[in-house]
Amino acid sequence: MSPEIVLSPRIPTHEFEALIVGAGGAGLFAALELARAGVNAAVLTKLYPTRSHTGAAQGGICAALGNQEEDHWEWHMFDTVKGGDYLTDQDGAEILAREAIDRVIELEHMGLPFNRTPDGKIDQRRFGGHTRNFGEGPVRRSCFAADRTGHMILQTLYQQCIKAGVRFFDEYHVVDLVVDEGRVGGVVAYRIADGEIHLFRSAAVMLATGGTGRMFRITSNAHTLTGDGVALAYRHGVPLEDMEFYQFHPTGIVGLGILLSEAARGEGGYLRNKDGQRFMERYAPTLMELAPRDMVSRAIYLEIRDGRGIDGKDYVHLDLTHLGKEIIDAKLPDITDFARVYQGIEPITQPVPIQPTAHYAMGGVPTDVEARVILDERNTVMPGLYAAGEVACVSVHGANRLGTNSLIDLLVFGKRAGRSMAADIKGQGLPAMRGDAAESVRAELEALRGRSDGEGAATIREELATVMMDNVGVFRTEELLTGAVAKVKELKDRYTRVRVQDKGKVFNTDLLEARELGYLLDCAEAMAAAALDRKESRGAHSREDYPERDDAEWLKHSLVYRRDGEPEIRYKPVTITTFQPKPRVY
Ligand SMILES: Cc1cc2nc3c(=O)[nH]c(=O)nc-3n(C[C@H](O)[C@H](O)[C@H](O)COP(=O)(O)OP(=O)(O)OC[C@H]3O[C@@H](n4cnc5c(N)ncnc54)[C@H](O)[C@@H]3O)c2cc1C
Repeated sequence: MSPEIVLSPRIPTHEFEALIVGAGGAGLFAALELARAGVNAAVLTKLYPTRSHTGAAQGGICAALGNQEEDHWEWHMFDTVKGGDYLTDQDGAEILAREAIDRVIELEHMGLPFNRTPDGKIDQRRFGGHTRNFGEGPVRRSCFAADRTGHMILQTLYQQCIKAGVRFFDEYHVVDLVVDEGRVGGVVAYRIADGEIHLFRSAAVMLATGGTGRMFRITSNAHTLTGDGVALAYRHGVPLEDMEFYQFHPTGIVGLGILLSEAARGEGGYLRNKDGQRFMERYAPTLMELAPRDMVSRAIYLEIRDGRGIDGKDYVHLDLTHLGKEIIDAKLPDITDFARVYQGIEPITQPVPIQPTAHYAMGGVPTDVEARVILDERNTVMPGLYAAGEVACVSVHGANRLGTNSLIDLLVFGKRAGRSMAADIKGQGLPAMRGDAAESVRAELEALRGRSDGEGAATIREELATVMMDNVGVFRTEELLTGAVAKVKELKDRYTRVRVQDKGKVFNTDLLEARELGYLLDCAEAMAAAALDRKESRGAHSREDYPERDDAEWLKHSLVYRRDGEPEIRYKPVTITTFQPKPRVY
């Protein structure tokens, strides 16, 4: 029996055994797992489910199926650990690499239209950092559906959820977690259609809200990737893990950041500087263009800095012209269309101008390998809270994620989240919920809507995107990061007086975007603070003033806590089971 609750009659209240916030790959896979276990679960999503960013993923999803050539999950695990510059927790990497195989087959059985080999198996292609026999050379490990892999995954999972009777609350923007005496017991949501606040009471809440990329000026991330789940957890005392590690993808469309998938290089595309040279031969002689993303992005920046950008400008070329029309049309149709539409370039005959674009958060809400959110260096579990997907840090990606390892992370740990929730809530009633559970966030939103003077959110957002791009980007220094910390603090202060123009209740995106800016500021605060504190270079965190990796001092995960409104940084050890740290040469 659930304990009695007395809720304000003004606020519609819903009860479910489990709630999932977010309908990308991670949220949908968890929902499916819960439905299969007979749990009464609901998914809340601020977007219509099939608009989630998972649908934008292009290149592929990896699993050591060995359909094209010999491959083993042990090799995949090794690549994931080495790719992450040895910050990867190896128990997690083992689970990822082992379970990837079953999850991809499971997707195939759900009907996902993968590209096929001539003998009818799932086709596989190369991707950066994925190698045979512990680094000897590239291996074909990435399964794909042309360059629309994420779209197919999202559609397939959504269909399966509908079939399984999963309940969806579309366009419900979750604005707070309900936490009582350290236990999570539901969420508060804002219904976008009419501005009504709803309370959801539940024994288990999963965050599956995706990434934080909109804090950067040039990014591949959709407008909605504003770190909502990361910030809500942070505000409720959950530390954020490894926030300083943010991946820049090497090949974004110049000026816009729209992604041209690594599949272009997986299929054999070259990177060239103004002299037409394949410059990666100087940075990663074995893997060349298929080195991990952090290394390729740095190489592009260094070429540009040394005056070898195209026409001396801040971009280089992605050259696909030698691949031929047939391969491009069959395997890279969407991304070559992007080049045509946004740049007026014909990739079959012309090289495509590209520059690095902010892409993926390796850090986020810390979880154990069962997707339970943890609260401290001793891995204490926060009762009732779960996370998986880009919002979470297991950490299987360490200091740098390999391409195609995110989509598989969604499935492997999304499924585990569903399984853990189903197991944990068994025999438990719903936790108590105070009648005023929605009150503080309702008051915050009303204050924001009601404020008649103050600054608009747009200028703060722009200044944030600029300082994060310029000071917390591919290369970092003490001076740049100190500047970023100060600037984010100033922006947070100005944000307390932010004003919205739209005072209405119906589809008030002005209000919600201002709310989201608050989440981005929280994520940026943690990222800048952790980046300033880490005095070494590892994976995507490249300090020009500390250019070497320093395992003696820094082979550890950062945890940023919010204490009295300020970030406080602590550290916890990395789990090393099989592969001892070695220099990372490709
Ligand atoms: C352009 C692009 C291409 C990529 N290509 C690849 C690839 O080829 N291979 C690969 O492995 N990875 C790729 N990635 C990375 C990968 O796609 C993402 O990391 C992954 O899809 C994230 O999935 P998710 O389930 O965590 O969240 P998302 O798919 O981002 O979904 C987030 C969900 O949370 C909901 N949400 C967020 N905030 C709230 C809130 N406050 N209230 C309610 N709901 C909320 C949203 O509505 C949405 O449903 C790519 C990423 C991008 C941007």
